Amino acid sequence: MRDTELYQQILGINTPWNVERVELVIADKRVDIHLTHKPEATWACPTCGKTMPLYDHSDQRSWRHLDTCQFQTFLHASVPRVECTEHGVGQVSAPWALPHGRFTALFERWIIDVLHETGTVSGAVALLGITWDEGWGVMDRAVKRGQKRKVAKVIEHLGVDEKAFRKGHSYVTVVCDIDKATVEHVADDRTSQSLGAYLGGLSQKQLWGIKAIAMDMWDPYFKAACEHIPLAEFRVVFDRFHIMKHMGEAVDKVRRQEHRELKAAGGKDAEKLTGTRYLWLSGEENVPPEKRARLRELVREVLRVGRAWAWKESLRDLWSYTTEGWARRFFSDWYAGAIRSRLEPVKKVARMLKSRLENIVSYCRYPITNGVAEGLNSKIMTIKRKACGFANREHFKTAIYFHCGGLSLYPEPSGGG
Ligand SMILES: [Zn+2]
Repeated sequence: MRDTELYQQILGINTPWNVERVELVIADKRVDIHLTHKPEATWACPTCGKTMPLYDHSDQRSWRHLDTCQFQTFLHASVPRVECTEHGVGQVSAPWALPHGRFTALFERWIIDVLHETGTVSGAVALLGITWDEGWGVMDRAVKRGQKRKVAKVIEHLGVDEKAFRKGHSYVTVVCDIDKATVEHVADDRTSQSLGAYLGGLSQKQLWGIKAIAMDMWDPYFKAACEHIPLAEFRVVFDRFHIMKHMGEAVDKVRRQEHRELKAAGGKDAEKLTGTRYLWLSGEENVPPEKRARLRELVREVLRVGRAWAWKESLRDLWSYTTEGWARRFFSDWYAGAIRSRLEPVKKVARMLKSRLENIVSYCRYPITNGVAEGLNSKIMTIKRKACGFANREHFKTAIYFHCGGLSLYPEPSGGG
């Protein structure tokens, strides 16, 4: 088999195209493949698809293709133009190429795979020998392509979460499909408008199709949900992990104060609470076995933090009920005790939970949490860390869609997008 035929086979080049010659430039580790076509071939108008004879050729164009045995490989061809009576002169589409750009569809596909694998543009760029802008361009086009292809559908379980972007000063709001574990939308800030703009863009059918939406006890999100989602008061489920986080913070406040007091008092108990922070914050079953004895011992000593911890741990049972009535009864008992605990931080959280109880016990109807969103969040954190932060919020958003959007990202050759 001659090398031209070999490449024709490898590249999947079909009539009327054929490989005219292959040049190997050993010094540059590069293969140049020149393509040509049968002179009598007819071509489709890029607009209407009607076939017609050749009008003329564009200047020669080049496309980077998949490497051949680690040699960078380029296709070269002059692309035919046709003159359509209706649409004028236009360049026909070449089967290996994308409408824009300097990569073949297969190479662009490969770049997408490498971007996924490395997690960063700079990682992919180093492996593939392309520029950062080219790598970024592929990612950006892939996301635009995926979003264009996306069909509006009903999402039954939504999760809304905030994500700090650049050291706590600015946020993005991440809306996800809990069942599919995909990011549906990323909006600037964490205001009502951040979520409202997304919900406002949904159809009536999609809005009515939302069965439940999990979120933090964050009033701007709640407000946006109530403005847009029918019966939202009934469908919002405050995320149990966020609720337990509030309880954990209450325990920690009690611990810090008590720790200060013990230290100030001096004596044998001065260092009793040193290094115990995480012991109090983990769920009991997550405390490493070797530390459990220590925890029990501390709890038995009736320290204030031990009591706060017990209120936190007992609250967790709230999510074990499957009927709202029982959950309410449980909470009412828990609340009555917690409010008499003489532990201000615990009482504060108890009051907050009481005022929002409707959307806490809604968990019995819709047992959803932002656990999935939290999983996506850690993926997003990884994206952020690997890119050493993003200079630009739009870049950050694009990377989230690329890695977590569940989008169909691959190009289809010759005009398919
Ligand atoms: Zn035409």
